[in-house]
Amino acid sequence: MPKLAMHWWILIGLVLGVAYGYVAAANGASEHVLAYIKPVGTLFLNLLKMIAVPLVLFSLVAGVASLNDSSKLGRIGGKSIGLYLGTTAVAITIGLVVVNFFGPGAGLSEATREKLMSAYGDTATKKAAAASEVSIVEQLVNIVPTNPFGALAGGQMLQVVFFALMLGIALTRLSRKVEGTTHVIKVFQLLSDAIIEMVQLIMKIAPVGVFAMLAAVVADLGKDPAQLGDLLASLGGYMGTVVIALFVHYLVVYTALLKLLTNVPWSKFAKAMVPAQLLAFSSSSSAATLPVTIKSVEDGVGVDEEVSSFVLPLGATINMDGTGLYQGVAAVFIANALGMPLDLGQQLMIVLTAALASIGTAAVPGVGIVMLVIVLKQVGLPEAGIGLILAVDRPLDMCRTVLNVTGDATVATIVASSEGLVKDDAA
Ligand code: ASP
Repeated sequence: MPKLAMHWWILIGLVLGVAYGYVAAANGASEHVLAYIKPVGTLFLNLLKMIAVPLVLFSLVAGVASLNDSSKLGRIGGKSIGLYLGTTAVAITIGLVVVNFFGPGAGLSEATREKLMSAYGDTATKKAAAASEVSIVEQLVNIVPTNPFGALAGGQMLQVVFFALMLGIALTRLSRKVEGTTHVIKVFQLLSDAIIEMVQLIMKIAPVGVFAMLAAVVADLGKDPAQLGDLLASLGGYMGTVVIALFVHYLVVYTALLKLLTNVPWSKFAKAMVPAQLLAFSSSSSAATLPVTIKSVEDGVGVDEEVSSFVLPLGATINMDGTGLYQGVAAVFIANALGMPLDLGQQLMIVLTAALASIGTAAVPGVGIVMLVIVLKQVGLPEAGIGLILAVDRPLDMCRTVLNVTGDATVATIVASSEGLVKDDAA
């Protein structure tokens, strides 16, 4: 390959993927893309998912054990959780302000509403059923895995995070009593380094993987151009509102926080984040993007491994600013479209429930809309309302995942900076 930074190659893959998917769809060849090109994207995504769970385990155990001091761990954990919750609440509020300003949904005609609800009603019912299976109390209790190996095998990130934290703390305590414990800690460190080495290898095919994923998404969306045109006409305002609000949060909140609370120049941060953002956009999964987020934050921003290995896996699991923001906008849009506008009290309720729902959202594609059902229920809107927006959920999932990942990286940078753990000489 000629010398060009990796993110440019990924961007080229992304643009070519969109173009290819578009041309294929326009020529009625969507099925061909889905049959032969999509698997290449899935393969790439599987490679990333393959390393996500071991990476969280090894790096978190190594990270916690290397902190070697439980008060520091408590401090870093406290700051991270505080910032994660605070930024999510601000994101949802921004979403609500923007959606109230533009007011999409109010003009949706009765006929379009009926059409969308009947076309997507079945899927909406299935998603609503999935959501009714998750209670918030149950989720909290489930953070503690009864079988950590089951948690690892099932990819239950929050459970893996919990177990890794406990193991890291136990190793630190043991190292004061039993000679040789440091060797075990070293093994975890080396395994975590080995996984990062694997990320380097996997990322070599990122442009091809991103090309295939994007071609598949666009070919799928464009299967029926007439229907796509209709959808954009009726839901374009809603989609635009989500995207504008996501941008506002990124450009105003993260930029201000970085400027006020760190010495990291915004341009350096923004540049370092591009590969992770492109991957988040293509994969719609913060969990699959995590290995690259960790690498970008360490190598590009200069955040010390001590912080990144702990704060980022935690963030990928519980911090979803983009998802919370989207849930707020979607709830108001659905309310407007159904002619049931929400009052201030109900909108404040959304800030609370969307924050909780975003924490409970798994970092994989399409779960944000399932958890939206909980938000709708809380404010007395019919859960079938998600049928209105299901058709365009994938592109919005791609966008909100970018913000989810950027939010994790912002918090990791702020926490590291407050601990004096940001190197100045990062690329
Ligand atoms: N796809 C999102 C993520 O992985 C979650 C969601 O909003 O559906 O971050």
